Amino acid sequence: MTRTHYTVLAGGTGAAKFLRGLVQVVPEEDVHVVVNVGDDTEIWGLHISPDIDSIAYALAKRLDTVRGWGLENETFRCLEEAQTYGLPSWFRLGDRDLATHLARTEFLRRGLKLTGAVAHMTKAIGVKARVLPATDDPLRTKIETPGGVLDFQEFFVRERWQPQVRSVTYAGANEAHASAAVLNSIRESKLVIIAPSNPITSIGPMLAIQDVRDALRCTRAEVVAISPLIGPAAVSGPAAKLMEACGYEVSPAGVARCYHDFLDNIVLDTRDAALAASIRYETIGVQITDILMPDDEAARGLAEFIIHENSTAAG
Ligand code: GDP
Repeated sequence: MTRTHYTVLAGGTGAAKFLRGLVQVVPEEDVHVVVNVGDDTEIWGLHISPDIDSIAYALAKRLDTVRGWGLENETFRCLEEAQTYGLPSWFRLGDRDLATHLARTEFLRRGLKLTGAVAHMTKAIGVKARVLPATDDPLRTKIETPGGVLDFQEFFVRERWQPQVRSVTYAGANEAHASAAVLNSIRESKLVIIAPSNPITSIGPMLAIQDVRDALRCTRAEVVAISPLIGPAAVSGPAAKLMEACGYEVSPAGVARCYHDFLDNIVLDTRDAALAASIRYETIGVQITDILMPDDEAARGLAEFIIHENSTAAG
């Protein structure tokens, strides 16, 4: 069977930037995105899938790229009104964004699985890539802090990722299964790309699903990861803090370690070239380029590099 698609494992912000570049380099129809659902939550009775929405909005060219989340040209009038009734307002739901959450919640209520709801909704907004939730089963990232256990959004948005982190767990991971579409996508891919996403709270929840980890270990495709860290710092967000809390070295070498059992290559920034020898020692290949994506042009350059460097493997 000819392998025609590229599979990208994705969280939110970093993956959204990279995908905007990738679809300039390969046909969007050939891109499958397996997306984290560990961040999903319920607000005002609505099912919110922050990573899926960031990916879908980015591919539909409707993401607010300055904020890094939500729709561009957004207003927050409903949020203001909702405060009158004492509803929580720390999770900022935009007026037009609310339609997405209403639609998803309604489709789930009618009996669709998340995969079906997302397929329907991404098609409706003109996304040609296949956006696949990692699982349809409940899987939620929990952050243990000195003040108690928080859902990821409580930690990340409400507490602005300030509390000390004692541990990170993935509730439901032992019982969760990936959909057949996710497993086929990984197994039959031309190339599997781990996006520059938080290894602990964006990629980690997906790897905690045994079927996903097994598929990554067994796939015929090469697996290449893009580091979300340059030196000891994440480009944005709490990746460094969470890696430290989970006992990983806070560097691109630590990122390679998170994926060591299935990773063939890791892409590091030019500034981290000196780390290559220690990573290669672990039998993971190292590819070096500029991995910062300030705009779509930079993202295209990174995607071009990755497709070119891994094209023999991709056949
Ligand atoms: P969160 O923001 O930590 O919850 O994680 P996400 O997985 O949603 O996306 C943010 C991740 O993308 C962070 O770990 C960032 O360091 C990474 N990131 C953001 N922008 C870039 C970029 O331009 N280049 C690279 N290599 N990583 C990036």
